[in-house]
Amino acid sequence: MDKIFCDGCGVEIQTEDKNKSGFVPKSALENEHIICQRCFRLKHYNEVQDVEYTDDDYLRMINQISGTESLVVKIVDIFDFDGSFISGLQRLTGNNPIILIGNKVDLLPKSTNKSKLIQWMKKTASDYGLKVQEVFLVSAANGQGFDMAEKEIETRRNRKDVYVVGCTNVGKSTFINQLINRSSGVKDAITTSYFPGTTLGFIQIPLDEKSYMYDTPGVVNRKQLVHYVTDKDLKLITPKKEIKPRVYQLQDKQTLFFGGFARFDFEKGLKQSFVCYFSNQLMIHRTKLDQADEFYEKHVGDLLQPPSPETLEQLPPLVQQTVKIPGEKTDIVIPGLGWVTSDGGITISIHVPKGVQISLRPALI
Ligand code: GDP
Repeated sequence: MDKIFCDGCGVEIQTEDKNKSGFVPKSALENEHIICQRCFRLKHYNEVQDVEYTDDDYLRMINQISGTESLVVKIVDIFDFDGSFISGLQRLTGNNPIILIGNKVDLLPKSTNKSKLIQWMKKTASDYGLKVQEVFLVSAANGQGFDMAEKEIETRRNRKDVYVVGCTNVGKSTFINQLINRSSGVKDAITTSYFPGTTLGFIQIPLDEKSYMYDTPGVVNRKQLVHYVTDKDLKLITPKKEIKPRVYQLQDKQTLFFGGFARFDFEKGLKQSFVCYFSNQLMIHRTKLDQADEFYEKHVGDLLQPPSPETLEQLPPLVQQTVKIPGEKTDIVIPGLGWVTSDGGITISIHVPKGVQISLRPALI
């Protein structure tokens, strides 16, 4: 049969193997719009099927960009900047210019200093060895920031193709849907969902007579917390609305738990307030530091929930890192969860699932 591609995710359609990506029953080939079983399920039951792509497959696919002359648009989730960073992207995409888009800006408190956030993103990208032309903050969900980003993409691409890349769950599909919606009025043109990894092949979207925008598969990054949590827990830790800061006055030797996903010990320093920016649904518990180990042992999975017992089975153990915070207002960022702002001049210990990399930045608010 001629090659057919899924209208939902762009993967090549096949009728032979139910357990491989792109499967449709033979009878479905008669349909005018063919979507693979996985997209069909997502659309109708919100259920995700495991597919057999490996990390190498994803990187090999992204690496095809290095052989093109194009503009690369890299999307990151501003709540998971470090987690959703693809290392080696510069090498994978050749010499093509890169625009960096920070998505989900609608979730930031209104008082956030956006230019500081952009500065930090530029610096962190450069620390990762990535040279970016421009950084934009957008909300793929509500279109905020798109006027500027769209204009820049149009100018920079200079009639060339555009490749949109990003890790799973950063909002890449939502971003492309928003672009398509703005230019054609068509809603949800490509599949989106709560779950990582819905975009499988390169989807080709015409930009003009000669050039295309390509949606590339979401790279699975093991540093992302999202891969270790059940979909129910993911809904709890992912902010849905603008974050409401929660303030805690702490003395040294006190501890905060963010659900059971992370633990923040105030080791040394004068009493101060800590402002916590996490999903409004994530419970924060305060305990004494010397009781924190026992408290965690006893309550993780119930009082300290999420993680649910199911997530706990797959979640890497918490590992501790002690950090000296400089004497200025600083954000302690836990990728995939949120951040805590401190006035600085203190020592803290932070416990996060192994593999998750915390970072510090000058406070955004
Ligand atoms: P992909 O895996 O990168 O294609 O990500 P999706 O487009 O499927 O989005 C992942 C999750 O993030 C979904 O639950 C989206 O609803 C959500 N999301 C995407 N963009 C935004 C945004 O701008 N703001 C908010 N609040 N959520 C978003």
